[in-house]
Amino acid sequence: MSANLDEKISPLYDAILRRNPGEIEFHQAVREVLETLGPVVAKRPEFVHAKIIERLCEPERQLIFRVPWTDDSGEIHVNRGFRVEFSSTLGPYKGGLRFHPSVNLGIVKFLGFEQIFKNALTGLPIGGGKGGSDFDPKGRSDAEIMRFCQSFMTELYRHLGEYTDVPAGDIGVGGREIGYLFGQYKRITNRYESGVLTGKGLNWGGAQVRKEATGYGSVLFTAEMLRARGDSLEGRRVAVSGSGNVAIYSIEKAQQLGANVVTCSDSSGYVVDEKGVDLELLKQIKEVERGRVSDYALRRGHDARFIPDSSVWEVPCDVALPSATQNELTGSDAAALVRNGVRAVAEGANMPTTPEGVRVFAEAGVAFAPGKAANAGGVATSALEMQQNASRDSWTFAHTEERLAGIMRHIHDTCYETAERYGRPGDYVAGANIAGFEAVAEAMTAQGLI
Ligand code: NAP
Repeated sequence: MSANLDEKISPLYDAILRRNPGEIEFHQAVREVLETLGPVVAKRPEFVHAKIIERLCEPERQLIFRVPWTDDSGEIHVNRGFRVEFSSTLGPYKGGLRFHPSVNLGIVKFLGFEQIFKNALTGLPIGGGKGGSDFDPKGRSDAEIMRFCQSFMTELYRHLGEYTDVPAGDIGVGGREIGYLFGQYKRITNRYESGVLTGKGLNWGGAQVRKEATGYGSVLFTAEMLRARGDSLEGRRVAVSGSGNVAIYSIEKAQQLGANVVTCSDSSGYVVDEKGVDLELLKQIKEVERGRVSDYALRRGHDARFIPDSSVWEVPCDVALPSATQNELTGSDAAALVRNGVRAVAEGANMPTTPEGVRVFAEAGVAFAPGKAANAGGVATSALEMQQNASRDSWTFAHTEERLAGIMRHIHDTCYETAERYGRPGDYVAGANIAGFEAVAEAMTAQGLI
C-alpha cells in the first residue's frame, strides 16, 4: 500500500500507475489530489460506490496528432500535437495549449487533470482539458510560428467549438499564437465563433484583464492568504521565477500592492535586482523584443545582476511566487527559502513545487497556495471572455478586474473554509483539492454514469 494514501484510495492509485506507465508528472498530480481525499471518501461513501475517482482519472478523450510544417529555409518538420479532453461535467473542456519541447502525453494529462479541479473552484461553467505540442517556438520567425499554428489547427479544429472545447494559451502560447490559431479556425469553418478560443486580441473578441489575469490573480490570492494571518504584501520582499506572462503580471500586481519584487528568471538563470524590478524594461525585452533576462540585467546596469544556471530560490525573500514551470522548486529550494524567513508561497505556475518542497513548507508553517487555487484567475477570466463573447458585449478593465478580485476572494474563502470543515485548518492544498473534487463529484453523480 502507498504511504499517505487512504486504504480505500491506495489500490486506485496503484491501478493508475499500472495503466499509465511512464507518465510521471500525471502520477505526481494524481497522487497529490488523492493524498487529501481520505476524509472525503470516509464522509461520502456514495462517491466511492459511484467510482468517481476512477472515472475522473481517466480522460473522456485523448487526441494525439501529427503536425507537419515547413521552416523558412524550406525544410519540413514533424511535431506531435495533443489535446486531452478530461472532463465536461461542469462545462466545455477548458484549458490552455503549451508549446515547449518537453511536452508529452504525461505532461498534458497532469495539466488537464489539475485543470478539472481548478476550473471547478472558480464556480464558473467550465470543464477541464489541456493540449499542446513538443514544438519549440524559441528562435522561430513569426512566419514559422504562423505556419506551425495553422498546421496544428488544421487537425484540432474538428474537436473544438464554443460549447465543446475552448483552448487558451500556456507556456509558449500567447496573444500572437492565439491570433494565428483563431484565424485558421475561422478560415476552415467559415464561422466567426469568438467563443472557441480565449486570450484573443482586444479588438477582435478578447477580454480586458485576460493577459494580466493569472499573475494578478495569484498575487490577489497571496494577499488574501496573508490577510487571513493578519499580514499583508506592503513593504514585503518578493521573489518571482519566470519572466513570461504569469511572472510579468505577478510582478505588476505585487508592485501595485506595495511589495518590492527583486527577481525574475528564465531557463538560463535568474536576475536579482535589489532596487526592485523595472517592469517597463522587462516588458520591453520580453513582450516586444522576445529577449532573455540576461539582456534585462545588461540594460538595467549595475543595479541588477544575472546569475546563470542557478536557482532563484537562493535569494532571501518574504514571499515566493514560482511562476515558470513544473517542479522548479525542490525540497532543498524550499529549505533555503524557509531558512531565509519566507512567510508565504503561491504557485503562479502549475505544480512548480515538488512534493518534498510542499512538505517542507507545511512543516515550517509557511502559508502555501497550490496552483489549482492561486493561478485560477487566468481561466476564470477566460470564462468571463466566453461570457462576453456569448452576449456580444465587452466590459471595461475596471469592471473585469473587480470580477477577478471577487473570484479570487471566493476561491480563497472556499479553500480556507473547506480545509477547516475537514479538520485541516490552514491547509490550502487539502482545501482546494477537496472543494474542487466535491463540486465535480456532485455534478457527475447528478448526470448519471457517463
Ligand atoms: P510563458 O509566458 O511561456 O513563460 C514561461 C516562463 O517560464 C519563461 O520565462 C520561461 O523561460 C520559463 N520556463 C519555462 N520552462 C522552463 C524551465 N524548464 N526551466 C526554467 N524556466 C522555464 O508561460 P506562462 O503563460 O507565463 O506560464 C507559466 C506557468 O504558469 C506554467 O506552469 C503555466 O502552466 C502556468 N499557467 C499559465 C496560465 C496563463 O494564463 N498563461 C494560467 C495558469 C497557469 P524560457 O523562456 O527560458 O523558457
